[in-house]
Amino acid sequence: MAKKTIFEDCDVLVVGGGMAGTGAAFEARHWGRDLKIICVEKANIDRSGAVAQGLYAINYYIGMQWGENQPEDHVRYARNDLMGLVREDLGYDMARHVDATVHMFDDWGLPMMRNKETGRYQREGKWQIMIHGESYKPIVAEAARKSADKIYNRIMITHLLMDETKENRVGGAVGFNMRTGDYYVFRAKTVIVAAGGASHIFKPRAVGEGMGRTWYAPWSNGSAYALPIAVGAKMTQMENRIVLCRFKDGYGPVGAYFLHLKTYTENANGENYEKKWYDKTKELVGEYIDHHPTPTCLRNHAFIQETMAGGGPIHMVTKEAFQDPHLETVGWENFLGMTVGQAVVWASQNIDPKYTNPELTTSEPYVMGSHATCSGAWVSGPEDIAPAEYFWGYNRMTTVEGLFGAGDTVGGSAHKFSSGSFTEGRLAAKAAVKYIEEEKAKDINVSDKQCEEFKEIIFKPLENYTVGRNEITGGTVSPSYISPIQGLQRLQKIMDEYVGGISYNYMTNENTLKRGLELLEWLQEDLEKVGAEDYHQLMRAWELKHRTLTSQCVTEHTLFRQETRWPGYYYRGDYMKLDDENWHCLTLSRRDPKTGKFTMEKAPVYHIVDEKEKKEAS
Ligand SMILES: Cc1cc2nc3c(=O)[nH]c(=O)nc-3n(C[C@H](O)[C@H](O)[C@H](O)COP(=O)(O)OP(=O)(O)OC[C@H]3O[C@@H](n4cnc5c(N)ncnc54)[C@H](O)[C@@H]3O)c2cc1C
Repeated sequence: MAKKTIFEDCDVLVVGGGMAGTGAAFEARHWGRDLKIICVEKANIDRSGAVAQGLYAINYYIGMQWGENQPEDHVRYARNDLMGLVREDLGYDMARHVDATVHMFDDWGLPMMRNKETGRYQREGKWQIMIHGESYKPIVAEAARKSADKIYNRIMITHLLMDETKENRVGGAVGFNMRTGDYYVFRAKTVIVAAGGASHIFKPRAVGEGMGRTWYAPWSNGSAYALPIAVGAKMTQMENRIVLCRFKDGYGPVGAYFLHLKTYTENANGENYEKKWYDKTKELVGEYIDHHPTPTCLRNHAFIQETMAGGGPIHMVTKEAFQDPHLETVGWENFLGMTVGQAVVWASQNIDPKYTNPELTTSEPYVMGSHATCSGAWVSGPEDIAPAEYFWGYNRMTTVEGLFGAGDTVGGSAHKFSSGSFTEGRLAAKAAVKYIEEEKAKDINVSDKQCEEFKEIIFKPLENYTVGRNEITGGTVSPSYISPIQGLQRLQKIMDEYVGGISYNYMTNENTLKRGLELLEWLQEDLEKVGAEDYHQLMRAWELKHRTLTSQCVTEHTLFRQETRWPGYYYRGDYMKLDDENWHCLTLSRRDPKTGKFTMEKAPVYHIVDEKEKKEAS
């Protein structure tokens, strides 16, 4: 079914040309002048990934040049928001480099807003600076295009290749072109996975005709996790899914509203409901509720409790701020540069925020490593600050040799957002080049047999359809194959009902998780029979398979952590309290590629920043 096979050999292969991928391609060229650098993207890098539509703020800028913040401050901030559990070495490493990244964006022509009085970047909040960011993605894409030897658009990477000389060493990746159906084999010395987070693994609030409307990009399908999981890379904090408080139905972001417009929330009776839930939340999480700023999950928790108690709908009070014409403009522009859909939803529902306070909602859960959450691959830290347990040679290298990660792919390092993801791509690329220079990628052997086997596997859904369609009894009713959309809805139902989705108010427990795992295993079996009628559906089939593998990992992690660490993201009904004594740790998983079984373990959390300061003081 496949058309021709195209081979491409290279030194650095970047999978995914979003924020982290463009950063990786750019930096790889800086350090590896003579290396062959290839970036492979499922869409088109000019408008791909979570920043496709543009952004209105760069959420992560330290401002060291003006003494606004120091890297240590950001580490403390991320630690606090994630209820104590982050990789501080990774966070610190990004924080000390992120400003340089933002300055490059400025040099490349990204329109930055400036504070008229100080001349500095216009702050939206302590960490955020405001931009006219509709052109953000094309600008970083240009930097990648000028750096890489070749950018391949419209190719979905489905599997990583493994070296056959040395165990546990990567050898490249394979995929297919969604327009031509050609099979692509990229044999590479190093691979940097930067394939974004995972939406649509839990049933979304918008179903049926509104199904594509999610907060995180609907095309983020978990390849960032499935690719490393499939080859046995260790993953961390995969239970730490994120739930967002957003404007209802359009998922318009609330950051600029809270921080710049100084709007606030209230329940249907005009009350500050967050205060009402203080005592009960304290019973669950202890002193974490007294931290400033209040961790994101705990603010969600109050929202969810209030709604369950009948206090909804929850509104954002915009009527006051929107009386100021400047703030009104900012409020609308915020959407027009990044989430046009929210403005359209308000227009369609007759909501003018100047006269009506719009409703908020909590989203379905997403899995990602770059926002207020940190699911992803377990990677080595930087050599100068990573503790021994977090260091195995090359910064941002996974536990598979030569396989690196950045952005949503990497776990433990929350709050990187667009600028941090690009920065992490740069860090990973620098280390990947070093790995090659130090001759760690010598004598890699990927046999034709391995490539041929993957070819058969990848195109099988086309075969399933061609054979199975003869038995279609009516419409799409087929006894011999399932379509990608049917499989996706089944996955979302399982995750929603058993792993803590919206229908169950984010509640789960050991029994439901075990049942969920059983159902996911059967789904995996049935996905051998997924059918694709064309190359686009073939992409859908592989997106679904990646989402399902990611979901299995999420479920295993959720079962392993016997506490409710992040109420408001999810609840373990059988362990409703935060348990620092037993669970102030990171969780790690590894799926055995031969058996498909997961093993779980704990890893220590090191509070490097404050330890460093304690030592300096003594
Ligand atoms: C609605 C929304 C609002 C946000 N607001 C802000 C904000 O205001 N400020 C801010 O700084 N950050 C914001 N962010 C966060 C920021 O966009 C992300 O942190 C960042 O884009 C993550 O970078 P990444 O490279 O990991 O993923 P992405 O940028 O999503 O890139 C992943 C890339 O991989 C490609 N890909 C996926 N699978 C495959 C595959 N199998 N093969 C080949 N290619 C593949 C995708 O097409 C995509 O191009 C926002 C995100 C969203 C969704």
